Amino acid sequence: MASEQLNPLILPDNDGNFGKHGGKIGHPELAKALAEIEQGFRAIIRDDEFINEMKRLQTTYVGRPSPIYQARTLSKRGAQIYLKREDLNHTGAHKINHCLGEVLLAKKLGKKKVIAETGAGQHGVALATASALLGIECEIHMGVVDIAKEHPNVSRMKILGAKIVPVSAGAGTLKEAVDSAFDAYIKAPADSMFAIGSVVGPAPYPEMVAYFQSIIGHEARDQFQQLYGGLPDEVIACVGGGSNAIGLFNAFLDDKEVALVGVEPAGEGLDKPGRHAATMTLGKFGNIQGFNCYYLQEEDGTPAAVHSIASGLDYPGVGPQHCHLKDTGRGRYETATDAECLEAFMALSREEGIIPALESSHAIAYALRRAAELGSDKRLLVNLSGRGDKDIDYVLDKIGL
Ligand SMILES: *Cc1c(COP(=O)(O)O)cnc(C)c1O
Repeated sequence: MASEQLNPLILPDNDGNFGKHGGKIGHPELAKALAEIEQGFRAIIRDDEFINEMKRLQTTYVGRPSPIYQARTLSKRGAQIYLKREDLNHTGAHKINHCLGEVLLAKKLGKKKVIAETGAGQHGVALATASALLGIECEIHMGVVDIAKEHPNVSRMKILGAKIVPVSAGAGTLKEAVDSAFDAYIKAPADSMFAIGSVVGPAPYPEMVAYFQSIIGHEARDQFQQLYGGLPDEVIACVGGGSNAIGLFNAFLDDKEVALVGVEPAGEGLDKPGRHAATMTLGKFGNIQGFNCYYLQEEDGTPAAVHSIASGLDYPGVGPQHCHLKDTGRGRYETATDAECLEAFMALSREEGIIPALESSHAIAYALRRAAELGSDKRLLVNLSGRGDKDIDYVLDKIGL
């Protein structure tokens, strides 16, 4: 790994901007704290000791490289469907990729504690895991609605030794958890580090998290060429904040013939304000939680209520790199509804014996729809960002099995 891991198309300028999106934080104290993190990040990615430690943990602890599996039964619909199996990582999702990086950085900076938000609890579990492994305190802020919905992940975090801070403000989901975690961090930036869970927030987070997630695309591009020859026609990932998608897209940005498709939650329908989280599709430009992006907003610019069947996707904003890819036309953003997502969840479970996360099921849903439109000579590579164990009771209840 080195700084050239990221394609220049998704690298920020000196002010943290990707086109008109992104940016640095205004708050003076926080700006100082984030500048320290940015400097630390720039130093470690040139440090052989850090890079070797990262590689060692990726291989022997996370279980990388994750395989690419050709889903032959799903592919009977038309185009060939291939799955990048991030669900097979230790802790069951892609989030461990950036959590190891963030916790290693926090230790390098001499911090005692990492502080973060979590939605579905996947970032919380991954961060608590990395913190247990590397011996650092971990404080996780989580909305009360998500705590109730994602109970197994709450138990995991407790067992791993993390302190959980329940957040009951507003809708009690991800956005409020981010506010709460930032507030806690502002109070003690000297001995803690904010460890954000996606490619969102002010600089340096979008760049830093994308860098740590870029391993997905670097592996996938090599594996695809070696195993199946050539490149896929479309590379597909679900988009909440956008970290698993950008991690996959990055390696394919220069391959003009490969379409990059992000799939957002249309929830109960794009015509129902407050009941979806289709940020790229229906959001307007503005500043949310310290960075510029497209976000779902009310008339007065306050972030709108959002909904998705997948807790990890119900955020009103989205990563600035994706907004920039949309503006330049290099990225295409589609949607899948809750109902399509459940159908895809069951299809992958019943036809391939793989239970996907509800988040990842959005990417599968789009791929199934797309496969049926295309001939069997076309190839779709889908990022299976996580496993669905956390969602099984919820799904059983929803479909009435
Ligand atoms: C958190 C999560 C997501 C959404 O986060 P991104 O930053 O958009 O990748 C998607 N899939 C799984 C399994 C997750 O845990």
